[in-house]
Amino acid sequence: MTDRYVVIGNPIAHSKSPQIHACFAQQTGQELSYERLLAPLDGFDATVRDFIAGGGCGANVTVPFKLDAFALAAERSARAQAAGAVNTLKFDGDLIYGDNTDGVGLVRDIIVNAGIDLGGARVLLLGAGGAARGVILPLLEQLPAQIVIANRTLAKADALVEQFSHTALSAARFDALSGSFDIVINATSASLSAELPPVPASVFGATTFAYDMMYGAAPTVFMQAAASHGARVCDGLGMLVEQAAESFFLWRGVRPDTAPVCQWLREQL
Ligand code: NDP
Repeated sequence: MTDRYVVIGNPIAHSKSPQIHACFAQQTGQELSYERLLAPLDGFDATVRDFIAGGGCGANVTVPFKLDAFALAAERSARAQAAGAVNTLKFDGDLIYGDNTDGVGLVRDIIVNAGIDLGGARVLLLGAGGAARGVILPLLEQLPAQIVIANRTLAKADALVEQFSHTALSAARFDALSGSFDIVINATSASLSAELPPVPASVFGATTFAYDMMYGAAPTVFMQAAASHGARVCDGLGMLVEQAAESFFLWRGVRPDTAPVCQWLREQL
């Protein structure tokens, strides 16, 4: 029987994960199926258990179920524990294992695909929601000199600093930011409504690398603003592909080549 995987969400029709994993499977010669699975908003656990009963091997989990997946997993990776959310489930008999590959996906896109060194870097992380929380541990593992978390609601940034309790981490209001950063990561959802987080222009310099977790056919407003201040810019398409590659590796033990998949997806936007 072909090994079965799904991406579970609500809504789910828009997900690009089936195309990404089909590319990975073809490229690595792995025989598997990967489909979209719509779960009712109040029926995540039942949907997962039905899928397991039907022989499912693993699942990606997307909005709004990453916290439900965290609660459902009997065992979790350290990075899932730190993120407080799970985007990858692996089933081994009755055991449900939960991981979070979003953060390592971002880090790999920055280091490997963009060629930017995070070691010793001064990093500004915009936002303190689920996406920001998920990337903090993988970012810290690269030994940056500093990560400043700026958020509209300062208390949420303060809570993250307290949770991770690391000397490189601090929180700030947008209007208290000063000086330029080596790397500015937009982990707010402002780009979804074509808004710009209220960062002072001074955070961008000629050597700044500005990364928006959002992606689309055209540069986001954040990327446009950063580029207008001289920064090199990048969107989150590579993060999407890299987090998928890490899930694929967890399930299959094989690491796909992400570059041709990124390029192909970019052409589809
Ligand atoms: P959350 O809803 O958990 O958090 C949203 C964050 O954005 C909060 O910090 C919120 O601030 C802030 N925010 C929202 N609107 C504004 C605004 N107009 N100005 C300033 N700050 C704002 O969302 P997520 O963390 O789950 O997602 C954030 C983004 O990351 C989304 O765009 C999502 O698409 C993207 N993402 C991309 C991935 C990829 O693979 N490329 C993977 C995961 C996420 P406050 O606390 O004050 O409300």
